[in-house]
Amino acid sequence: MRIGIVGGGIAGLVSGFLAVEAGHEVELFERDKLGTGATGKALGVLVPITGLNRPVDALQRAGIAAWPELAVRLSALSGIPLGEFWREWEIQGTMSQGTEEPKGIIKAYQVRIPLIFEVLRLAIEAKGGVVHEGMVVEAPTLLLGTRFERVVLAGGWGNVALGGQDMRVSAGLAARFRGDLAELVAGDNLFVCPDWDGTVIAGSLNWDLKEPGDGVVQADKLAELKARVGALVPEMAGAEVVEAWVGYRPTQAPRMPLLRDLGNGMVAVAGLGKTGIGLSPMLKVWE
Ligand SMILES: Cc1cc2nc3c(=O)[nH]c(=O)nc-3n(C[C@H](O)[C@H](O)[C@H](O)COP(=O)(O)OP(=O)(O)OC[C@H]3O[C@@H](n4cnc5c(N)ncnc54)[C@H](O)[C@@H]3O)c2cc1C
Repeated sequence: MRIGIVGGGIAGLVSGFLAVEAGHEVELFERDKLGTGATGKALGVLVPITGLNRPVDALQRAGIAAWPELAVRLSALSGIPLGEFWREWEIQGTMSQGTEEPKGIIKAYQVRIPLIFEVLRLAIEAKGGVVHEGMVVEAPTLLLGTRFERVVLAGGWGNVALGGQDMRVSAGLAARFRGDLAELVAGDNLFVCPDWDGTVIAGSLNWDLKEPGDGVVQADKLAELKARVGALVPEMAGAEVVEAWVGYRPTQAPRMPLLRDLGNGMVAVAGLGKTGIGLSPMLKVWE
C-alpha cells in the first residue's frame, strides 16, 4: 500500500517506520523540523501511567512492551548505537495518578529526545521510505487517489485544521536541572530522570486547555514543579534550573480507538495525550 503521513512527531515517525517495515511504501510530510510539536517537549519516559485495566491502559502496556525490540531494530537500521538513545530502568510502582499501581518492581524505559527523531528518520529511509521536512500539507484529501491509497493525519494539534478533529490540549511543564541522579524516579504524577548529558530532567505538571498557549513558563508553576521534584527526590531539593519549557499534548476523549477512520482511505491519530511515545508502536496505520 502507498501511505502518506502528515506529521513528523512520534506518531507519524513510529507508525511510518512500522509501515515500511511491514512492506508498505511510505512518504512522510513534516511542516517544520521533525519533533517540532509535542514530542520535542517530552521527557521520553515509557512507564505505565496507571495500574488499571481499561482498554487504553492495556494498549499502553502493550506499546511499552513492544519498544525494547523496536529500539534494537531502529539501532541496527540507523547505525546509531542503542545506548545513545535508549535506556532501561527497573523502578518501584508508577507515575501514579491516584489510581491502583502495579505492585513491586516494573520495567521502565527512556528514549532520548531529540536524537530519536534522527534515529527514526534514518531507519525509515533505510527501508526505502521518504521523509520530508519543511513541507506543509494543507489539503490532505488532495494526496489521496493517484499518489497515496491511504493518508494518515498525525499532525498532533494540527489535526484540528487538517481533519476537523475535535481535540483538546493537555499542557505540560518540564524542566532541566543541574544535578546528579543515578536512576529514574516516578511518582506523584512526575518523572525525574537522568538525561544523557549529565543533567536531570523532570516533569510534568499538567493542566487542560482548549487550545495551545503561548509557550511562556509561568513562575508559579515552575516553583510548584521544583517543590514537588524536591519532595519526591530529596537530593534534588534546591537544584538549579537550567531551562524549563511548556508543551501542548494533543488529546481527545474518548482516546480509543487510537486511529479514527475518516473514510475514503484517510485515518487520523486520535490524540495520544500524556503517553504518546509509549502508545506509538500500537499505530498500525495500514490495517
Ligand atoms: C512536558 C511534556 C512531557 C511529556 N513526556 C512524555 C513522556 O515522558 N512519555 C510519553 O510517552 N509522552 C510524553 N509526553 C506526551 C507526548 O509528547 C505526546 O503524546 C506525543 O508527543 C504526541 O505525538 P504526536 O506525534 O501525536 O504529535 P506532535 O509531536 O505534536 O507531532 C505533530 C507534528 O505534525 C506536524 N504538523 C502539524 N500540522 C501539519 C501539516 N499541516 N503539515 C505537515 N506537518 C504538520 C507538527 O509540526 C508536528 O511536528 C509529554 C508531553 C509534554 C508536553
